[in-house]
Amino acid sequence: MKKIWIGSSWKMNKTSSEVTTFCDAITPILEQVPGTIQTFLIPPFPYVREVAEAVDRYGTCVGVQNICWAAQGAFTGEISAGMAKDIGALIVEIGHSERRQMFNETDETVNRKVRAALGTGLKPLVCVGDTAEEKRWGVSAEAIVRQVKIALFGLSKDELHNVIIAYEPVWAIGEQGVPASPYEAENGLYTIRQALIDMFGEDKAQQIILLYGGSVHQDNAAELIAQPSIDGLFVGRAAWDAEGYAELLSIVGCYCE
Ligand code: PEP
Repeated sequence: MKKIWIGSSWKMNKTSSEVTTFCDAITPILEQVPGTIQTFLIPPFPYVREVAEAVDRYGTCVGVQNICWAAQGAFTGEISAGMAKDIGALIVEIGHSERRQMFNETDETVNRKVRAALGTGLKPLVCVGDTAEEKRWGVSAEAIVRQVKIALFGLSKDELHNVIIAYEPVWAIGEQGVPASPYEAENGLYTIRQALIDMFGEDKAQQIILLYGGSVHQDNAAELIAQPSIDGLFVGRAAWDAEGYAELLSIVGCYCE
């Protein structure tokens, strides 16, 4: 049976002492998390090793928020998949809408990064999502299917069990975001699963973990996780402090029982 994934990316937030405070508060909670739940945390690069050292023993996966597609070389300011792995990362977030909007991430660079991650033994957590305009124009499904198909283009069927996809509608993310209803979240992820079935066949498509992200909070987590196509939740603001994350784990834990 698939585990329920629940984790958070901290984006460009937290000081070193805030990271230590978070780790001190969350580790006793992680110790209690049932085996049906897979926890993960994606801090900014400088804190990855510290967080990994604190939470590894509880089975929590730690990730990075980006990698370069190349393994090494003249790419000033970039970090390779191998370097991310060296400092304790198991996951790499790729193609978050903020990176697509502000840092010129394209479907093609997402695909190159997915291949670099898999080639190095990291799990790519690929973010896809429709914009508010695409939603208004009625082309949400087309937009997310295109992103998924290009992100996973050229992958072998044997690599798929390491792939995670997060449906993060751009209109649902962050302070200005309007949370997707459970129906909208389910619809997006169902569409993605069907596209994966077209690409790889039913068995392989079912191995890919599908997460929902975008204004997940303590009041909507239970309804979202109950949707049949949702394997887990990718949380931002609501899990940035240990209490918030702990509360979400307990909500999802109740659902698992
Ligand atoms: C995100 O930006 O990926 C995200 C899920 O953020 P939030 O939960 O804060 O909307």
